[in-house]
Amino acid sequence: MVNLENSAFAVSEKGYYGNYGGAWIPEMLYPNVEELRQNYLQIIYQAEFQEEFNLLLRDYVGRPTPLYFANRLSEKYNTNIYLKREDLCHTGAHKVNNTIGQILLAKRLGKNKIVAETGAGQHGVATATVCALMGIECIVYMGEVDIERQAPNVARMKMLGAEVRPAKSGSRTLKDATNEAMRHWINNPVDTHYIIGSVVGPHPYPDMVARFQSVISEEIRKQMFEHIGTELPDYVIACVGGGSNAAGTYFHYLDEPDVKIIAAEAAGHGVKTDKSAATTFLGKPGVLHGSKSLLMQTYDGQVIEPHSISAGLDYPGIGPLHAHLWESGRAQFLAITDDEAMQAGMNLAKLEGIIPAIESSHALAALDYLDLRNNETVVISLSGRGDKDLSTYMKYL
Ligand SMILES: *Cc1c(COP(=O)(O)O)cnc(C)c1O
Repeated sequence: MVNLENSAFAVSEKGYYGNYGGAWIPEMLYPNVEELRQNYLQIIYQAEFQEEFNLLLRDYVGRPTPLYFANRLSEKYNTNIYLKREDLCHTGAHKVNNTIGQILLAKRLGKNKIVAETGAGQHGVATATVCALMGIECIVYMGEVDIERQAPNVARMKMLGAEVRPAKSGSRTLKDATNEAMRHWINNPVDTHYIIGSVVGPHPYPDMVARFQSVISEEIRKQMFEHIGTELPDYVIACVGGGSNAAGTYFHYLDEPDVKIIAAEAAGHGVKTDKSAATTFLGKPGVLHGSKSLLMQTYDGQVIEPHSISAGLDYPGIGPLHAHLWESGRAQFLAITDDEAMQAGMNLAKLEGIIPAIESSHALAALDYLDLRNNETVVISLSGRGDKDLSTYMKYL
């Protein structure tokens, strides 16, 4: 892990990336967030923490994940494409990198209970997994509607020993689950840590999660060097829901201006329809889940329900780092429709024998928008595997 201390893309003392970030929280939550803010850096850079974290990443998660040269995909695009295989992580996606980091941090803060919220259930499963690993009690709030829609992940969480509590208010989806999880944390400040699943939420969460996920680009740099004798590809590409796999993929390249950063957002049916989740195209500055960022909202500030065929990208905001990458022009954002993503996923399966998560398929579809040369190198974050999405792919066929 490196510190990006002097970078324009590092978080400021107050938790800002440019105009975005901060800790916009109710007073009641302040002690919990402040305890975390004062301690997180000191704890995660202790030698003994790093040793335990890295050992679990190696032996439990299966890191380093391969950086795979995708030969047939490269031929199709007449360039050199490498896939960062986060789909091979234990539990099938990158999310576990963060939950391992946070559970180790929670233990050192003396917390013996975990609360989390989940939408599609992927973060809930990654959280329940590390709680089982550490023998820690786990409560996951999930919207009642999502509990019905995502039955397999509910079953996984239960098998892993977590208690899944339905959020019954409002639209009974992710934002209601988040409200309930925050309320739970307010009421249990002493013994409970709240594990957030992406680079969102009040400071220090976006920075903390980015640091845990930064292992992705730390490995990419070494692996690129082994493959081609330079650590720098021409492009790094990732999908952005909240933005954690993207933050991890970009992290060690943020201050390398020769490396172009591409972010694939979920356009759903298209940015001109009312069924989309492309936040930088449709969003305005606003506050969601404790941080100021770009947010899809009505003129009077009501959050607009997003739509994406992929549950992991179906989120009305993005993390504050990404809002800053967008505003500063450091990253180029692309809006990828459901159809484009599904095509790209089918394509990867046939060309490389890899079935990607539909989230990751959005990053793959970005290839069609770039003017790639045969001497250029592209790294794509394959954030997760597609087993969970098979029925959606089949319906689409
Ligand atoms: C959750 C998820 C995402 C989206 O989350 P980010 O925080 O934007 O990375 C992307 N891909 C997969 C496979 C996921 O499970």
